[in-house]
Amino acid sequence: IEAIAAAVRGAPVRAPAPPRPFAAFSGLEPLVVRPDSNFILIGERTNVTGSRAFARLVKSGDFEGALAVARQQVEGGANVLDVCMDEALLDGPAAMTRFLNLVASEPEVARLPIMVDSSDFRVIEAGLKTLSGKGIVNSLSLKEGEAKLLEQAERVRRLGAAVVLMAFDEKGQATSAARKVEILSRAVQLLVDRVGFAVSELVLDPAVLAVGTGLVEHADYALAFFAAVRELKARFPEAKISGGISNVSFAFRGHEPVRQAINACFLYHAIRAGLDMGIVNAGQLAVYDALEPGLRERVEDLLLNRRADATERLLAHASGLEQADAAGRGPAEWRALPVDERLRHALVHGVTDHLAVDLAEALAVHGEALAVIEGPLLAGMSDVGERFAAGKMFLPQVVKSARVMKRAVAELEPRLREHGAAARARAKVLLATVRGDVHDIGKNIVGVVLGCNGYEVIDLGVMVPAEAILDRAAAEGAAVVGLSGLITPSLEEMTHVATAMQRRGMTVPLLIGGATTSAKHTALKIAPAYQGPVLHVRDASQAAGVIGELLGPEQAALVERNRARQQELRDDYAGLVREPLLGLAQARDRRLALSFADEALARPDELGVRVLRPVPLAELVPYVDWTPFFHVWELRGVFPAILDKPGVGPQAREVYGHGRAMLEELVATSALEARAVYGFFPANRDGDDVVLWTDERRREARARLYCLRQQRPDREACRSLGDYVAPAPGEDYLGAFAVSAGFGLEALVERFTAEHDDYRVILVKALADRLAEALAEWLHLQARRACGFGREENLGPSELLAEKFRGIRPAPGYPACPDHREKRTLFGLLEVERQIGMRLTESCAMWPAAAVSGWYFNHPAARYFAVGRVGRDQLEDYAARRQESVAENERWLAASLG
Ligand code: SAH
Repeated sequence: IEAIAAAVRGAPVRAPAPPRPFAAFSGLEPLVVRPDSNFILIGERTNVTGSRAFARLVKSGDFEGALAVARQQVEGGANVLDVCMDEALLDGPAAMTRFLNLVASEPEVARLPIMVDSSDFRVIEAGLKTLSGKGIVNSLSLKEGEAKLLEQAERVRRLGAAVVLMAFDEKGQATSAARKVEILSRAVQLLVDRVGFAVSELVLDPAVLAVGTGLVEHADYALAFFAAVRELKARFPEAKISGGISNVSFAFRGHEPVRQAINACFLYHAIRAGLDMGIVNAGQLAVYDALEPGLRERVEDLLLNRRADATERLLAHASGLEQADAAGRGPAEWRALPVDERLRHALVHGVTDHLAVDLAEALAVHGEALAVIEGPLLAGMSDVGERFAAGKMFLPQVVKSARVMKRAVAELEPRLREHGAAARARAKVLLATVRGDVHDIGKNIVGVVLGCNGYEVIDLGVMVPAEAILDRAAAEGAAVVGLSGLITPSLEEMTHVATAMQRRGMTVPLLIGGATTSAKHTALKIAPAYQGPVLHVRDASQAAGVIGELLGPEQAALVERNRARQQELRDDYAGLVREPLLGLAQARDRRLALSFADEALARPDELGVRVLRPVPLAELVPYVDWTPFFHVWELRGVFPAILDKPGVGPQAREVYGHGRAMLEELVATSALEARAVYGFFPANRDGDDVVLWTDERRREARARLYCLRQQRPDREACRSLGDYVAPAPGEDYLGAFAVSAGFGLEALVERFTAEHDDYRVILVKALADRLAEALAEWLHLQARRACGFGREENLGPSELLAEKFRGIRPAPGYPACPDHREKRTLFGLLEVERQIGMRLTESCAMWPAAAVSGWYFNHPAARYFAVGRVGRDQLEDYAARRQESVAENERWLAASLG
């Protein structure tokens, strides 16, 4: 020691090496990331949440098998391995420890630095204690605040690992570039200043979020990521920037080739922005330059948010490219099939791209147009019909198939005429929406589905009187007549048609469908009027099957079954012991007695009628309630969960993409016009009714709103809408509104019909309905603000759709006010037709059909309810109040009388 001391005496003390500016991680071997290093691939498959195969192996205890997955990632070029054991059924710390110990025994894998990935800090600690070398923690964030981050970071520092910081804070995940940068900068500062990390030990993850979800708010997510990478790179050149790449394409699960293309393009742009490393499926990365150029362009449209319809175009392009048919044949392969097979494929998959070429070839093969229609085209359609019946295809796909068929027939048509060819007689189905009713989306869908099943559909449109329907049925020799209707007065009109069929001595089957129709009403009211078969059809998917049976050898059996079932329904009904209703006087004693203290009343800042014409469509988009949109397409579920629902998810996503794209087009071109009128009037309850006064003096009645009262004996309160309004001399007000987003719809429908595009016809009608409902929501918000109390409301669109606001807007024809005739009062009061051009039919349906009208009740206790069954005593009283005959009112209230 003496000698050594003597030897070094006077030599300079070693200065510690300055911290390396390069990130350095290690497994058995070091991984130093220098500025000229290649992009670092972090293998993602050793993750139980990301890889089903890996999860299965781990859960079954097959850790050797799990290790093989790790090996495969290394062979695929991974430089780091991300390991995640976050699964509810796993003991996370134990699984992590066991797997990492196993990894240590496999030099080929143990060479790599490990990224210990968990949202559970106990698992992270367990992992770090097991690792040799300098691993990486994935991840820490400000999610639970600064104190928590500091505490965890300190423990990681002691264990010697590097850290991925995630762009997440107390308020949640960062979606904008600015927030990503702000959060990560704050986190870096904390770890460097307060815990003692070197910047080079930090990996920043600005959070890759999914695009193409159909939500416009997500359209800029990729751009936000790129911008954040650029900014972070500039601020923290020594930190590494990383991201979980596959997240970006999450919305395209099930479309593997599309996902890979999106991932590859995203990675390309992210690396150009400065990304250093990324969690990827090593070994399965598509090459940006090798992508099919059309596909790449569409992917980039999506990632760079270059067009509103990017998702739709990408999917459409991809389905043309990739869509394998039932035999699993890919794009190139189906194009190589014989022409008949190609046509069938095009029909089943709804692809119109190659129609012209294929039809020309088919004509050459078959010699004439008729043979093409009756050969491959009908074969393809019956394939579609069978798949739909078997639940293997969803409605939107069927409608798209029908579009292919219609376009094909339209293309062949001139040649048919040229040759004077007569098509094989197909059974004719006559469809009509009955007189007084304007609703036809459901009927259109049934027509399309029947067309797919080889029937000749004659659609007479809406508001068709009985005589017109039956004359035409006779003239065409229709095999079946189908009636549709949405509002309750249409039920009676259907009975009227049935009666007329009986009078004419007809025998063809009569089908009944539409929202208010039911098997029971059909059995009770319609079937007894006509001796031919009368069948209730629930939805489009049932229609084809029922007609198939009706026109086939099973006819007798079906008709017999139907008759027996209807008899049963009638017997049940006759034998039904109904709870007796409360007498009207008793019901009135139980009326809802509300307080009308000042705070329950609201004075509108202006009386009289206000007209908004047009209302900009862009205003309405955030207020659209999408759930009913899917119901039009017979896709069951609630938005947005339906987009990920097993089974219907992909279809829901696609039709939603098309819906959003068309909506944006409608907004951009103002092809639809939305108009609204509303007003508040001084009002007081008078008995069960509400009187609306001409002015504040409240002497002269301007209109009277007749209300029906519940007569249910099991209720403490028997409500009438009138109960929500203060009796005189209270200074109360009632509002009325009417809105429609259907102006211009007819022109669009004509255009799409001319293009043989039923898909768009149905799409645009469904959207017009959605916009009308959105307008009703939006207008109600304006009305509440006009009444003062709405100014403090501060609710977002989803809270509005959940009706979290004060007051209600009951619509005549709905359960709280089932008499559709009240719309006449409302239309008179607001001069709706003169002001905005909406009209009522004789059944009180509104035209244009995409419309809503109703009353504004402001009382804080106002709730929707159902009047339910109305007794004879109330019917008579109501008729007397209206100064009309009981019989007339019986007709309009039929559905409420039981
Ligand atoms: N957001 C939905 C609204 C569905 S219907 C959509 O976009 O389709 C909701 C409307 O029906 C209400 O705003 C009200 O006008 C009417 N309504 C609902 N229940 C009612 C009831 N019991 N009585 C009268 N009107 C009712």
